[in-house]
Amino acid sequence: MRKTLNWREFRALCEAKSQKYSREFVVINPWEPTSQVCSECGYKWGKLDLKIRSVQCLNCGTEHDRDENAAKNINKVGRGHCHDSKRTRIDRKTTSVAS
Ligand SMILES: [Zn+2]
Repeated sequence: MRKTLNWREFRALCEAKSQKYSREFVVINPWEPTSQVCSECGYKWGKLDLKIRSVQCLNCGTEHDRDENAAKNINKVGRGHCHDSKRTRIDRKTTSVAS
């Protein structure tokens, strides 16, 4: 039987891989509300019911696929754009371009 990795092992594997290829490895806060904010403008609409698959931002009007939006946010958080990424302090000042 094929062994399935648990999260710990998976993380370790990722870390090892990224070290090998000297890539940046970032662990984000699992409580980061990645599906609760607009990846375009940062507006926070709060918790969504899991049934809701797409959202339209009340602030900028952008329509997002729920998962796509979350993925974009995770990417942002991982790159240190977010205010409360406590574990990884990358103080990179980035200008957010609001379109
Ligand atoms: Zn928005």
